[in-house]
Amino acid sequence: DEKPLHVFLEEASKRYGEKKALHFMGKEMSFSELYSQAKRMANYFQQLGLTKGDRVAIMLPNCPQAVVSYYGALMAGAIVVQTNPLYTERELEYQLNDSAATFIICLDILVPRVKNVKENTSLKHMIVTGIKDYLPFPKNLIYPFIQKKQYNLVVKVEHRGDTHVWMKILEQTTPNYQTVDVNPKEDLALLQYTGGTTGFPKGVMLTHFNLVSNVQMCDAWLYKTKQGEEVVLGVLPFFHVYGMTTVMNMSIMAGQKMILMPKFDAGDVLKTIHKQRPTLFPGAPTIYVGLLNHPDLEKYDLSSIEACISGSAPLPIEVQEQFEKVTGGRLVEGYGLTESSPVTHANFVWEKRINGSIGIPWPDTDAKILDMETLEEAEIGEVGEVAVKGPQVMKGYWNNQEETDNVLKDGWLFTGDMGYMDENGYFYIVDRKKDMIIAGGYNIYPREIEEVLYEHEGVLEVAVAGIPDPYRGETVKAYVVAKNGYILTEDELNTYCRKHLAAYKVPRLYEFRDELPKTAVGKILRRQLVESEKIESK
Ligand code: ATP
Repeated sequence: DEKPLHVFLEEASKRYGEKKALHFMGKEMSFSELYSQAKRMANYFQQLGLTKGDRVAIMLPNCPQAVVSYYGALMAGAIVVQTNPLYTERELEYQLNDSAATFIICLDILVPRVKNVKENTSLKHMIVTGIKDYLPFPKNLIYPFIQKKQYNLVVKVEHRGDTHVWMKILEQTTPNYQTVDVNPKEDLALLQYTGGTTGFPKGVMLTHFNLVSNVQMCDAWLYKTKQGEEVVLGVLPFFHVYGMTTVMNMSIMAGQKMILMPKFDAGDVLKTIHKQRPTLFPGAPTIYVGLLNHPDLEKYDLSSIEACISGSAPLPIEVQEQFEKVTGGRLVEGYGLTESSPVTHANFVWEKRINGSIGIPWPDTDAKILDMETLEEAEIGEVGEVAVKGPQVMKGYWNNQEETDNVLKDGWLFTGDMGYMDENGYFYIVDRKKDMIIAGGYNIYPREIEEVLYEHEGVLEVAVAGIPDPYRGETVKAYVVAKNGYILTEDELNTYCRKHLAAYKVPRLYEFRDELPKTAVGKILRRQLVESEKIESK
């Protein structure tokens, strides 16, 4: 549909009114209350001089304020810039400058960080909120996502000048904001920075139409669950486009209650499922792995879970099967990228799904595989670059025509991922183009080796990457986290890999770690592992 994204909330408020929209640590908020608060925020932005197209940065974990500010900013005509609350000053400054944001909404614990960079950016106004604004809880429950020793970072700010206090705004502002004319196909709703897995984050320009389309596809994909009665578990962060589309915007469009979790903690998630009975659970492989390996897993009733979509990284079949056994629900794999709002492919929940495949293109989405050399369409089963086209594909990169031209050609988005299609139109991702290892003249896809290692009973997590090597160009290295109580040795893994992989693919090096570096959606950062290697060898 050609409508502004924020119309979802207006419609939900009319249609679902007093039905609960949010659940946050025991406290709930209805659709009409959510709409009312978003309108107040929109009005306040406008009183501060916000005009159409201004950028509003949001630096919040999943909490009611994250939803209110997102919709409030859109209603006021702004372009939202999502900022990861874990960003360091350097990362924050880069993003604020690149987007030239003039407003930021942040948590009270982040105020010192924002203040330190403010002078070097175009920020004019800072709106400050605390988790306690919505939770009258004892102190140790106020910030469950930060360590106790960080409590002293909570600063008290006064509502004056360029600093604005959330609760004061809500108390003192009416909902009478000025509606803004939006051209959904042209106007940006979001400037979303890529995960940075493979390089410096780029600002992805997503229009209202891009985001609305992807949410509607998501809705069509779910056609066979108990529509309208679902409760969605919001573990994926809303500051990443995956959680934003499949949890936040999807729930508002469909009138589903969403449970907001500010941080992934396996124990908390299990408890929450047991008590709040969510039916839908979009996630990422490392999230499901974390739950399955929790020592108290068996104590919890997870049978409310009906449908889960896993994206952002390959889903090991082992994990999929185990998770389905434990919950009795369905876990299917999907695929996408920030540049496509993000989902382009998924398996169906109930029928014709193929484990190990990312499924088929979503409604209105075209996809093809291009031969790496000829750039012609590849044969069935032949590996090439995945390209996609559809209403969810971005307008381009912000202030970066060169990069835009590299990836967008005649409306086709070149994903940078290698994959193939089978005779039934199902797609498979082999790996990222950039992560392919070339060792001794062989092309090696790290994912294949990771899949083999994941099947080893002692392996909890693994990442495989190419390390520069004077003789072979690159050599294969595996970074491994052992399961609790399991003592893994290099010899054991080596013997195991030799049994299951061709000799040239067998890792030459192993490193055992307590954990692996991950992005906000739990994607393992292979690049960071390789870079830490380079730094150490200097
Ligand atoms: P950057 O673009 O800055 O390097 P990023 O690629 O991590 O960061 P995202 O847009 O968050 O940014 O991730 C999209 C990528 O995630 C895809 O291009 C693909 O490589 C990977 N991905 C997503 N879903 C899957 C999946 N089901 N299987 C394999 N890979 C996946």
